[in-house]
Amino acid sequence: KNFSDLNLPEALNKGLASLNFHKPSKIQERALPLLLKNPAENLIGQSQSGTGKTAAFTLNILARTDTSVNKPQAIAIAPTRELARQILGVVQIMGQFMDGLKTYCAVPDPSQRNKQVDAHVVVGTPGTVMDLIRRRQLDASGVKVLVLDEADNMLDLQGLGDQSKRVKKLLPPHVQTVLFSATFPERVLAFCSVFAPNANTITL
Ligand code: AMP
Repeated sequence: KNFSDLNLPEALNKGLASLNFHKPSKIQERALPLLLKNPAENLIGQSQSGTGKTAAFTLNILARTDTSVNKPQAIAIAPTRELARQILGVVQIMGQFMDGLKTYCAVPDPSQRNKQVDAHVVVGTPGTVMDLIRRRQLDASGVKVLVLDEADNMLDLQGLGDQSKRVKKLLPPHVQTVLFSATFPERVLAFCSVFAPNANTITL
C-alpha cells in the first residue's frame, strides 16, 4: 500500500514527500479510506502516540479544506496546549503546499482578545475553542470536521470532557467527528457514545 492509492490532493502528496513519508502506517492505512469517504464517516480510533495518528487525521482535515473558502473548516481539540501546538505544527508542515492555507492555535492568549479568527484550520484546547465560538470570534458555520485527540487524557482533566461536548453542540449538525484514544475505559466509552455516535471503530 502506498499513499498514492488514497487519491489525496497533489499538494498533500508533496507535503508527505517533504516529510519523507512514503508508506502509510497501519493506522493511516486503515483510517484514511474511511475518513476520506464521501459522505463523511465518523471514526473512533484506538491508537497510541507513535503510530502516526496525527498525520492520519491531519491528512483528512487538509483534504477536506478548501482554501478558497475563507472560513474555518476543521477544528481539532487536544487536552493540553503543548499537544495542540504540536498538532498545529504537523498541519502546517503537511499543508505547506496548499495555496493560502491559514491556521490558528486556539489556546488562551490575551493578545487575541476580541479578534476574529482568520483561519481554515483551528487546533486548540476545548475551553478556548468553546469561548471563541460563543463570542462569535470563530465562525463555526463552515466547519466540516471535528477531531478530538487523546480522549482518555482529555477526560482525566477536570471539565475538558464537558467543554468538548459543548464545542460539538456549537458546530453544524453533520460535522464528521473523529476521536482518538489510547485506552477505552468505561468513562471514555460513555463519552464516545455522546461525542461520536455511530462511529466506525478501528483498534490496532
Ligand atoms: P504520532 O503517532 O502522530 O505521534 O506520530 C509518530 C511519528 O511517526 C511522528 O514523528 C511522525 O512524523 C512519524 N510518522 C507518521 N506517519 C508516518 C509515515 N507514514 N511514515 C513515516 N513516518 C511517519
